[in-house]
Amino acid sequence: MFLKIPHSKSLQHMLPIFSILKKNTVALFLIVLVSCTSKAQDTTLIPVDQLVGKKLPELFGNEYFLRIEAHEAFCQMQQHALKDSIKLYVASSYRGFEHQKKLWNKKFKKALDEGLSQEQALARCMEFSAIPGTSRHHWGTEVDLIDIYRPVLEKPLEQKEFAAGGNFEKLYQWLQLHANEYGFYAIYDNNPERKGFHFEPWHYSFLPLASKFHVEYLKVDLKTQLMQCEIAGCELFTDEFLNQYVADYVMHPNVINGTHQLFLPQSIVSPVSLSK
Ligand SMILES: [Zn+2]
Repeated sequence: MFLKIPHSKSLQHMLPIFSILKKNTVALFLIVLVSCTSKAQDTTLIPVDQLVGKKLPELFGNEYFLRIEAHEAFCQMQQHALKDSIKLYVASSYRGFEHQKKLWNKKFKKALDEGLSQEQALARCMEFSAIPGTSRHHWGTEVDLIDIYRPVLEKPLEQKEFAAGGNFEKLYQWLQLHANEYGFYAIYDNNPERKGFHFEPWHYSFLPLASKFHVEYLKVDLKTQLMQCEIAGCELFTDEFLNQYVADYVMHPNVINGTHQLFLPQSIVSPVSLSK
């Protein structure tokens, strides 16, 4: 991923053997060298830069951005919800690395401005926000949902709005009943056994795709991906911290043996291809 490609002239200078080769021969050699090395480093079925939000995949949607399979399933779910007088609206879908970093750094600064220590600011951010490069919103499979038949709120994504008597109580009940029919699952649920992010009743994951992304994501060398990225608090990202973060926030307990396989009916998992 981060292979530094030396300029052919400087390589000639460093290694005398290259000085007897013609310039274009050196260039050809370098191309072969780079492509072989890249293959050896990236063992994921989905390119690492897409898994960490650094490269935009092909996305679809109306006022939102999802991979095609998630988009089509969402449209069907939206039609069903309309019949039940709920107008599903995606408050957030795909977010790239830079977008996530902007949100993260802003939150981190706010916490520091309130007088929190670096460690406390990190803990505050991690209540609801993923470290840039680790958000499932990078995958184009995640949605944060509200119902726009309900009154507009300044801060719609609050737990209390999805609870009894809240603005989105009906939406919450409906999603609990029907989202799974379309492949969408509430992964940051209110199971007290679950570690990681707090309960997010608005966040749904399109697991027919995301469960496969998740497996691939676990192969990513996170430290390399987060290095030199100007992420607030990154000086606290020790190996120990990152291992614990992955265990609690990425491998959370509603994932069984590193996959969502047992969490899903096989009929939903199998038809989706990740070949592109
Ligand atoms: Zn979300």
